[in-house]
Amino acid sequence: MKLLAAVLALCSLAAGAQAQQPGSPRVAPPDMQAITPPLATYTDDVLFGDVWKRPELGPRDRSLVTVAALIAGGHTQQMTGHFNRALDNGVKPGEIAAVITHLAFYAGWPRAVSAIGVAKEVFARRGIAADALTLGSSEPPAVDPAREAARAAAVEAQMGGTVPALARYTNSVLFGDLWRRPDLTPRDRSLVTVVALIATGQVDQLTFHIDRGMANGLTRTEVSETITHLAFYAGWPRAVSAIAVAKAVFESRQAAQSGKGGMLLEIMRRGSQPTVQGSPDFFTGSVSVDQRFQRKDPARVGGGIVTFQPGARTAWHTHPLGQTLIVTSGTGWVQLEGGPVEEINAGDVVWIPANLRHWHGATAGTAMSHVAIAEALDGKSVDWMEQVSEQQYRRAPR
Ligand code: MN
Repeated sequence: MKLLAAVLALCSLAAGAQAQQPGSPRVAPPDMQAITPPLATYTDDVLFGDVWKRPELGPRDRSLVTVAALIAGGHTQQMTGHFNRALDNGVKPGEIAAVITHLAFYAGWPRAVSAIGVAKEVFARRGIAADALTLGSSEPPAVDPAREAARAAAVEAQMGGTVPALARYTNSVLFGDLWRRPDLTPRDRSLVTVVALIATGQVDQLTFHIDRGMANGLTRTEVSETITHLAFYAGWPRAVSAIAVAKAVFESRQAAQSGKGGMLLEIMRRGSQPTVQGSPDFFTGSVSVDQRFQRKDPARVGGGIVTFQPGARTAWHTHPLGQTLIVTSGTGWVQLEGGPVEEINAGDVVWIPANLRHWHGATAGTAMSHVAIAEALDGKSVDWMEQVSEQQYRRAPR
């Protein structure tokens, strides 16, 4: 508001005509300067002198937003200038073509078809050949199967019973094909879709598409800045109508985020689980296990804190995917079958390769604790065998 007041003051002082600083060329066309001098000043000083320069949305994005608003609104007269500006701002010719195709679905075939002639002329004047339109195509975008399945089910539930053919086109053509074309990134598709909905006043679909856009990488700042930019190209009322929708989406995404964080974080507090004594089937001597954990599929890591009293050790055993031991206190012994018995001390980290027979435990005279971590294969992380005999155990280093 401060800015607008400043511009208004500037207008009355400069009588509208010479408000521009020397050196920055005027964007406002001569007719505008002659017939609507205040509009020319807003155009030069506010729209191009300020809005277009705001760093919250880059020039390329602003051009995408503007081009999409013009196509969706059917404003062919302004397209030449803005198609050229878009190309100057780094939008590729193929991306402009892709926006036109995309918006046929969101603003109707006629609006898209009207834009084709303008694009053709702009491309021709810049010497852009038709085959350049397919250059720069990248890999088809990755699709999140769970998100897509939920979306397809929602489409089916919403319109399948009433307008089944449209439900089918929506799932197979619109989302199943158009949205997966590699000539525009999902983030840019979301951006131009949101723009088309705001520019044509379609608030009903806006919630879904702002949310999808943010899932596709649009930030809160970019959405907010897009709405600001669109006030100038689609009018204040349409921009203002979009604000409540954006606010609701921001809040629901934030709530989902914090709800998820609160529910899924798991802390097994020290002392909250009883200490388990190692079974005499698998251990010799006094062994206790604390904080045992096994993560759920698709994770497969599990483990615990194992404490061996002097002379205590595991039986011979193997791990299908190996095991990491992190010694946290004392001194112990570890041996791979056929190798020497090695001494391990607090702070040492030990790797036991998969399927190799071994044992680990305390020394004869010192207790030892280690964190043991192993991944499970088909739900199993250890295969137990016979006990380590006194004779085998006493072969330890001296
Ligand atoms: Mn082991």
